Amino acid sequence: MRAFIGVVTLTLAAACSRDAAAPPADNSRVARNVLLITIDTLRADRVGAYGYSAARTPALDALARSGVRFDAAYAAAPITLTSHASLMTGRYPPGHGARHNGMRVDSRIPTIADVLAQQGFATAAFIAAFPLDRRFGLSKGFQIYSDRMPRGEDGRPANERPGRMVVDEAMDWIGGHLHQRFFVWVHLFEPHAPYGNPADPSEARRPVAVRYDDEIAEADRQMGRLIDALGDSRHDTLIVAAADHGEAFGEHGEISHSVFTYDTTLRVPLLVAGPGVPAGQTVEQIASLVDIAPTIAARTGLPRFDADGINLSPALTGGTLPARTLYAESFAPLLDFGWSPLRTLRDERWKYIAAPKPELYDLQHDPAETDNLVATETTRASELARRTDGVSSATLAPHAAAPDREALARLQALGYVATSTGGTDRADPKDRRELAAHLAEVTSGELRGPELERALREILKQDPSNPQAHVRLGYVLVAKGRCRDAVTQFRAAIAEHLPSVDAHLGLAGCAMSDGQRDVAERTLRLAEQIEPNNPVVLANLGIAISDGGRPADGLPFLQHALSFDPDLHQARFSLAVAYGRLGRRDDAAREAAELLRRLPESAPQRPEVERLLAAVRPPSD
Ligand SMILES: [Zn+2]
Repeated sequence: MRAFIGVVTLTLAAACSRDAAAPPADNSRVARNVLLITIDTLRADRVGAYGYSAARTPALDALARSGVRFDAAYAAAPITLTSHASLMTGRYPPGHGARHNGMRVDSRIPTIADVLAQQGFATAAFIAAFPLDRRFGLSKGFQIYSDRMPRGEDGRPANERPGRMVVDEAMDWIGGHLHQRFFVWVHLFEPHAPYGNPADPSEARRPVAVRYDDEIAEADRQMGRLIDALGDSRHDTLIVAAADHGEAFGEHGEISHSVFTYDTTLRVPLLVAGPGVPAGQTVEQIASLVDIAPTIAARTGLPRFDADGINLSPALTGGTLPARTLYAESFAPLLDFGWSPLRTLRDERWKYIAAPKPELYDLQHDPAETDNLVATETTRASELARRTDGVSSATLAPHAAAPDREALARLQALGYVATSTGGTDRADPKDRRELAAHLAEVTSGELRGPELERALREILKQDPSNPQAHVRLGYVLVAKGRCRDAVTQFRAAIAEHLPSVDAHLGLAGCAMSDGQRDVAERTLRLAEQIEPNNPVVLANLGIAISDGGRPADGLPFLQHALSFDPDLHQARFSLAVAYGRLGRRDDAAREAAELLRRLPESAPQRPEVERLLAAVRPPSD
């Protein structure tokens, strides 16, 4: 167990449309319970109910038949945390502050879970991927927030977990709560890249589109089991199913999602069924995921939910929604690459994208967004530009971001908090679309080994200062045992303001394997300033200090790390060793025994832990 804990996860780093008055409360039947299902990265046009003939989505299709299908529903951001935060708070990203994965949702903003819990609902969430980890703030209002990812044999947590596991847990919980009103949110991650297991050569040979459909089919299967688990309470339950964003397969030169704000990644399926919702209806009017929280509030009989979104009940019951504009944004270009963010405003016909080179599309005649009319529709474009600025500026100010220490530290590390310069001197993401596509291929997990290294070097040829490419290349080199070269890459990533501590962790790991504990400690203390409560930083700091001969100084860091994440096995091993060195044999034995309890049966570390336990246990035991 000498190994250092590696980077557990590369951090997958207004007025708005209150232009319409809230519609009157709907008087139809009130739902007793709410089941919210979000399927990550699911394009609407890959679902049978949305017209995809090759679809294998019987559960989604059945749900659409039993309720209402929104044909023009859009995410508020093409990225997991930001989009889910908008869904849960009913607010556009400027209103909740989590403008990108890895940032925090403003804890002062109520979520639909908060409000339902206050009304006496039992609340639970079952999460399938790290971007929605409780540390980012969406656990608020949930009495149960199951977000623990399984560990590999090396003790590292995975980034995601299978839908079957998530749904098994959710079904257990639902079974125990049928006697009271409940709100359960289930998140499924299957359609997110990598599709299937590209490490398996026979699978990697199959076309991406087929593997993507396979993953959707699996998510749909799990969703079907979940809905079946409702049993008779199905009739009293409002069921909402949506995706957090779509996925690009080359449209507009984009791969994956997060950078661009075309409908390829913003359009999502949205299905609503339940008490008082007529079967088999379709809504053509535009809707946003920010409408879900106010709609759930209305359907469960709660008072008006204060939000940027609106209660969709009139559309659910055959009426019309007020005319309005919907906002969406992507700050990933700014926060990941230092490029201009993208902000969009749309109505039933027009869509404006605020960028250094702005875009305007007539969606009625050009749904694929290929014919930019900004030069000919100048009045419309400047009016939409003005209104877009009214929702959010192109910069992040402290008051607009989550006022959370960690989020602020991340922003400060980027240099974005203090400076409020305009966005116009930043690169337009569409001028970097090839680079963005290479980066997306790299981050998708679809590339392996030499292919991955080649792609990263190609990115750095085009964009020598790219911090994400530097840090990822650093880890590729570490895996090949080339720490000396990796250090250069990690240093470059830090110099270019990588927003996470991943490069610090890489540097510290290389320093440790080189026996330079003081260098590792200094690096980790810098990382701790950037992310004060990152358990991996704390664990590594504790290991570096404790293994460096100062067990008493290392203890608090190890204990602190384990308080956030009790399954940091190497931290617990170091903690047991540190107690042993301090002569606290009982404490050492307790931690070693606890570690054995937590380690999988097949974990290769067990013999070493057993030896430690035997060494510290008094002979009379
Ligand atoms: Zn997502």
